[in-house]
Amino acid sequence: AGHPLRRRADGMSQLPSAARRIAHHLNAVVRGDSLASGESDPAVVPSPLFSQRALVSSLDQYREMYRRSIEDPAGFWSEIATQFYWKETWDPEVYAENIDVRKGAVSIEWFKGAKTNICYNAVDRNVEGRDGGKVALYWEGNEPGLDGRLTYSELLDRVCQLANYLKHVGVGKGDAVVIYLPMLMELPIAMLACARIGAVHSVMPAVVFAGFSAESLTQRIADCRPKVVLTCNAVQRGSKTIFLKDIVDTALGECAKDGVHVGLCLTYENLSAMKRDDTKWQEGRDVWWQDVVPNFPTKCEVEWVDAEDPLFLLYTSGSTGKPKGVLHTTGGYMVYTATTFKYAFDYKPTDIYWCTADCGWITGHSYITYGPLLNGATVVVYEGAPNYPDPGRSWDIVDKYKVTIFYTAPTLIRSLMRDGDDYVTRYSRKSLRVLGSVGEPINPSAWRWFFNVVGDSRCPISDTWWQTETGGIMITPLPGAWPQKPGSATFPFFGVQPVIVDEKGNELEGECSGYLCIKKSWPGAFRTLYGDHERYETTYFKPFAGYYFSGDGCRRDKDGYHWLTGRVDDVINVSGHRIGTAEVESALVSHAQCAEAAVVGVEHEVKGQGIYAFVTLVEGVPYSEELRKSLILTVRNQIGAFAAPDKIHWAPGLPKTRSGKIMRRILRKIASRQLNELGDTSTLSDPTVVDQLIALSDH
Ligand code: ATP
Ligand code: MG
Repeated sequence: AGHPLRRRADGMSQLPSAARRIAHHLNAVVRGDSLASGESDPAVVPSPLFSQRALVSSLDQYREMYRRSIEDPAGFWSEIATQFYWKETWDPEVYAENIDVRKGAVSIEWFKGAKTNICYNAVDRNVEGRDGGKVALYWEGNEPGLDGRLTYSELLDRVCQLANYLKHVGVGKGDAVVIYLPMLMELPIAMLACARIGAVHSVMPAVVFAGFSAESLTQRIADCRPKVVLTCNAVQRGSKTIFLKDIVDTALGECAKDGVHVGLCLTYENLSAMKRDDTKWQEGRDVWWQDVVPNFPTKCEVEWVDAEDPLFLLYTSGSTGKPKGVLHTTGGYMVYTATTFKYAFDYKPTDIYWCTADCGWITGHSYITYGPLLNGATVVVYEGAPNYPDPGRSWDIVDKYKVTIFYTAPTLIRSLMRDGDDYVTRYSRKSLRVLGSVGEPINPSAWRWFFNVVGDSRCPISDTWWQTETGGIMITPLPGAWPQKPGSATFPFFGVQPVIVDEKGNELEGECSGYLCIKKSWPGAFRTLYGDHERYETTYFKPFAGYYFSGDGCRRDKDGYHWLTGRVDDVINVSGHRIGTAEVESALVSHAQCAEAAVVGVEHEVKGQGIYAFVTLVEGVPYSEELRKSLILTVRNQIGAFAAPDKIHWAPGLPKTRSGKIMRRILRKIASRQLNELGDTSTLSDPTVVDQLIALSDH
C-alpha cells in the first residue's frame, strides 16, 4: 500500500501526466555527449553476392522504396495489401489517423471497411493454389529426439477442427479466448483458430516462474473475461516440469471469487510431461482437448471480419512497471507483419526460419505465427530451453532443420557467449544465412560474437527495434542492403518516420540524441490499451503532442544510423553528462571477463548521480579487486572518466522479465538500498535472483 503518490511513481504509465514525468527527465537528453561505444567499430559491409540476391540490394533501392512509402503511404501499402485476399476491398481510404492529442481523441484506422481474415491468408491461401504439402511447422520437443511436423494442409485441418469446436461451445466473433500453452504446435493452431472465427485471443507466456504466473493469469482473465481458457496439463522445460493446469486452476479459482466465472478449460494432454490420470480435474469445467477436438470436421467456414476488428490483446513485458494490455486489429497488422518479416529477414521461399521467442510475447505473435505463415514460410517451433541439455542445443536444432534465418534476443546471445565458443563451433551452422536480434539493445561485443562465431562472419544481423505497441519491426537493417554498424538498428522500415526530439518536443536534425518518437501512423500500430483509451493517449501521445512516444532514448550518428540508448526513464545524469544505460553496459560487456551488465543511477553528493553497475562474469571467472578496477578502466577508456562506474556489484544473475529483459527498475532500488520499495516484481522470471543480489551487496 503506502502513499498513493509514491505508488504512482513506480509505473510510468500510471502518472497523472506523463508530461510531468518527462519534465523530470528534462535533462535526460544525451545531446552533445558524444559517447564512443560502437563508433570505433568499422562498419561491416555485406558480401556482394548476398546483396545481389537480396530483395533490397542497395541503399539506393531502399531510399527509393522508402521515399514512396512516406510520400504516398496509401499507394505504397494498398499495393502490398492486394497481395492478400480481401473479401471486400477498402474504399476509398486506406487509412485515417489522428495521433495528435491536441486535435481530439487519438484514433488510427487502416483499410477500414475492408473485409478479410488473417487465418485465411496465413493458412488457406498457402494450400489453395500453392503447395499444401510444404511444411508449415517443424516442432522440436524439449527432449532431443522428440519432434513433429505439420504441412500447410495438415495445419489447416487442425485449425479448422479447433475452430469448429470453439464455435460449438459458443465462442463467436468478438469473444475473448485466453491461451496459456507452452510452445506446442497447438499454440499457433489455437491463435489461428481464434482468428478464423473472429474471436480475440490473449496469449499469456506459459513457461515462467509458477507462483507469479497464477497472479498474472488471474489479472488477465479478470480483465478480458474469456469464455474459454486453453491450456495443457504440464510441460517439460529443461530439466523442470511446470504444472500449467495447477496454475490455471488457481487463477480460475481466484477469478471466481471476484465473480468472473470461466465455464470451460480445454486442456491438452501433454504426454511427454504428464499423464492425464495425474492431472487434477474439475468435472463440468475441464475437458481434454484430445477427447473432443479431433472429432470435429476439418472444414470450417471463415468469419470475414473488418480490417479494424480486434485480432488480439497482448500485454507488454512489464520492464518498466505493470504490463499494459495492447490491442491490435486485423488488416493493418496483417499487412505490416507480413511485409516486415519479408524484408527484415530477406525472406525467400526456400528459407527455414526459427525464432526463439515464446508465442506469449509479441515477437511470437508477429514473427512466429502471423508474419512467417502469411509468407508461406516453414517455421521451427521449439518447446524447450535453448541451453538444454547443454548450451549447444540451439546449434543442434539449426543443423537438424537446416535453419537459414535465426531470430533471437540479446539475453540469449550473451548467455551463450558466456558458455564459450566450443558449444557453437562443434556444430556446422552452414545453413544459416541471416541472424536477427530483438528485445534490448545488443551490445557491440555481443553483436560481434554473434556475427563472427555464430554466423562465421557470413550472415548479416538484423537488429530489429520495435515494441508490443508497434506490432512489427520499426527500425532494422535490411540484410544485404547497406553496411552494418555493430550495435546499431540502422534505418527505419518502410512507412516509419522515426524522429528524435528534445525535451520540448522539437525535432532534432542531423547528428543528435534524445527521445525516440514516431511521426504519423503505420499499419501495425496498436489501436488502444484495452479498456483504457485515456491511458493510451496519456502514455503515448501526450508527452510529445503530434507524435507517438516510444519511451526509448535514441542517438542518430553522422551517417544517419540509429542507436538505441535504453529507456529514457533509465538515463543517468552524472555532473551534467547524460548517459544512456546501453552505452555503459556495452563498454562493460566488451571486457573479456564480463558476460552481462546492468547499470543504474544512484544519488551522489557531488555528481548528482553516480553510476552503479551490476556485472555478471564469464563462466568460471572469480570476482576480484583487480577485476573491479579493470572493469572501471574499460569504461573510462571507451567512453570517458565521467562514465566510470562508482560502484561495481558482482551479480551471479540479474533480475529479468519473463522475456529476458533486464529490470533496471528493481536494480535501482537495490542499489539505493530501498529494499522495501521494490515495487511490482510479478513480471520477473525468477524472483530469487533479487534476494541473492541483496545478500551480495556489501554496503
Ligand atoms: P513495458 O512496456 O511493460 O515496460 P517492455 O517495453 O519491455 O515492457 P516490449 O514491448 O516487449 O515490452 O519491449 C519493447 C522494448 O524493448 C522497447 O521499447 C525497447 O526498450 C526494447 N527493445 C526491443 N528491441 C530492441 C532493439 N533491437 N534495440 C534496443 N532496444 C530494443
Ligand atoms: Mg514498453
